[in-house]
Amino acid sequence: MVILRACLLALFALVLAEAKNVDYTGHKVLTITPKSKADLEFLHKLRNDYSVDLWNEPRYSGVPVMTHLKPELVDAVEEALTAHKIDFDVAFHDLQTVIDTEKVMNAPSDPSHAAAFDFGKYNEYEKVIALIQSLAADHPDVAKLEVVGKSYENRPIYSLKISSGKSDTKPAIMMECGIHAREWSSVAAGAYLVNKLITEYGKDPQVTKLVDKYEFNVIVESNPDGYVYTWTTDRLWRKTRSRSSIDWLGVCRGADANRNFDIEHCGVGTSRKPCEEIYCGDRPFSENESRAIRDLMIALGSRLKAYFSIHAFSQLWMTPYGTTKQYPPNYLELTRIGTAGVDALAKKYGTKYDLGSIANIIYEAAGSSVDYAYVKQNVQIAYALELRDTGRYGFFLPQNQILPTCEETYDGLIAAIEALK
Ligand SMILES: [Zn+2]
Repeated sequence: MVILRACLLALFALVLAEAKNVDYTGHKVLTITPKSKADLEFLHKLRNDYSVDLWNEPRYSGVPVMTHLKPELVDAVEEALTAHKIDFDVAFHDLQTVIDTEKVMNAPSDPSHAAAFDFGKYNEYEKVIALIQSLAADHPDVAKLEVVGKSYENRPIYSLKISSGKSDTKPAIMMECGIHAREWSSVAAGAYLVNKLITEYGKDPQVTKLVDKYEFNVIVESNPDGYVYTWTTDRLWRKTRSRSSIDWLGVCRGADANRNFDIEHCGVGTSRKPCEEIYCGDRPFSENESRAIRDLMIALGSRLKAYFSIHAFSQLWMTPYGTTKQYPPNYLELTRIGTAGVDALAKKYGTKYDLGSIANIIYEAAGSSVDYAYVKQNVQIAYALELRDTGRYGFFLPQNQILPTCEETYDGLIAAIEALK
């Protein structure tokens, strides 16, 4: 009886914790710049031994790593960094203040248009969906909204099909945004792209030509449950919101949908522990969200010529493979098209991207959508992009950078598509 009561109390506490906003008061984010192999190992040790959330992957010397510390770790880590003579700056003194400020900044500037999508801000889930619904409703000649799946919490996963005339024989291009919930700029970039392709058709000659030639299939919001959760409860949520069958108490929700594709599932750069950020899920395609993306790839079949997976942050334009440092067979062609993208992107505001294969440029990661598209669905041109920045603001890219990020990303993607043969 006592045990049963304790269990019930524990469950009750969990339910309460679920419903409450996650509070990041006293959490600090350091920008740590490793200068040697030993410094890199120090960062890996922080993550492995102390479960420190590294917002971007330690890549090589000189590339800063945004390191999120719980209050109880701040002093010890700062002392250790000083003792080891590792360079660091403070990116955010108090993370909750940053989250609160962002909330205020995202509030609609004109309350009479509170429901309208604002391309200069981050937009909550309802506004993103309202935008893509109205684009399809107002432009039936070039846009069609399709439900390609349902999230774990039963939200529709939409793909916007953008194409003029009869499209079922056209070459297709597919893009997926927001698979990682906290990467809000990815959703912003997707919304900007679909809006431009649809509303500029018949006006902008380049848009008109591309929409005549290709059928675009864009999933602006691939992880709706996670995105909603980042707005309501935990700004730093990354995964889906599913329940794992091996986590029988339901302590840790969600899997990393971009480690859940059937390509060396649960291999390098993933975790089998449901509480980890890179949990690969109970089995390949255990997540509704990765299944929806797969099903759209399969439906497009051999028409699918190019695939783009949009993430943040680090300013990277990445080719397959994530699973091995070996280069894919058409790496030269992938580099040619990627270079066209990176160059056009830099031309807009001078933002510099690194180009290379996922495993070589960032880290080895199995189960990603891009590797799955390339290897299992034979999509010859496939990329993952990491948008701005390189480690100053990370997921909290300030408002004055949202629209420029969308514009330059658009330029890069369009130049890459123009470069397709
Ligand atoms: Zn991501």
